[in-house]
Amino acid sequence: RAKATLNQTICFYEVSMDEAARGRRALANDLWEAVEKNQLALHYQVQKSVTTGEVIGYEVLLRWNHPERGMVPPNEFIPLAEECGAILPIGEWVLREACREAAGWDSQHKIAVNLSPVQLANGDVVSLVHAILVETGLDPKRLELEITESTIIDDKQRALLTLRDIKALGVTIAIDDFGTGYSSLETLRSFPFDKIKLDKSFMSEVEGSPQAKAIIRAILALGHSLQVPVLAEGVETQKQLDILHAEGCDEAQGYLLGRPAPIVSVVGVRTEAA
Ligand code: C2E
Ligand code: MG
Ligand code: MG
Ligand code: MG
Repeated sequence: RAKATLNQTICFYEVSMDEAARGRRALANDLWEAVEKNQLALHYQVQKSVTTGEVIGYEVLLRWNHPERGMVPPNEFIPLAEECGAILPIGEWVLREACREAAGWDSQHKIAVNLSPVQLANGDVVSLVHAILVETGLDPKRLELEITESTIIDDKQRALLTLRDIKALGVTIAIDDFGTGYSSLETLRSFPFDKIKLDKSFMSEVEGSPQAKAIIRAILALGHSLQVPVLAEGVETQKQLDILHAEGCDEAQGYLLGRPAPIVSVVGVRTEAA
């Protein structure tokens, strides 16, 4: 009887694997069409100075409004887009839309765009960024590219050269989700970063865990001795913000300061660029 149960279990498992695989394949097909069919949208989340509260910029967060599945969160479709290559047209669309949007603002606020490691490894990324800056007229100083730490490591030499070329355009680079990868110090030592984004998992622990607080303090000291500002992600409570203030954290982002939202609701009515 035990054996029968085991077989059934395996059977169900395989069926559901098949379904999952089919589902992923269908979703991958839809992804390729998402750009053309206008199903992608950008949300913007504010980044503020911890000391003055002033707005520094906005991070761009991609949303996919699927006709049948509704809003598909990026954690579900970005990995798939990276696997099937659709991240290249999608990432290009994100970059162009974000730069065009920011170029139309009154303010000099920065725009922070997530760059996939697949985009980074693509030979054209430097000329693409350059072309989009020229096309939209956005001041390169206002564009920041966020790169997740754990993903850079694969082809280190090449990534390093590409990042240098991107920086030579005047664009800045932030290291995203810092503290979750397994090679943090090595990454910091060899890559030319302009900002450290402390992973949001630290914020969820900082109030209760002396260890989390000690690590945050150490990362802040590290950032500051490298003369690189540190931004804390995932700030949800005033208490967390107070701790960051007391510890000398430079910038913060999170639901407390503003949720990701379509641009009009975060920036207000903007002037139309000529
Ligand atoms: P990320 O770059 O680390 O972005 C921050 C994530 O934290 C966003 O999730 C944001 O909505 C969420 N967040 C912001 N404040 C809070 C908070 O106070 N509490 C909590 N719990 N979460 C908060 P989202 O929008 O679901 O994006 C997830 C990830 O998907 C991003 O993580 C980024 O790695 C990736 N992603 C999003 N848009 C793009 C894109 O255009 N291109 C690429 N390559 N990746 C993207
Ligand atoms: Mg990011
Ligand atoms: Mg990330
Ligand atoms: Mg992050």
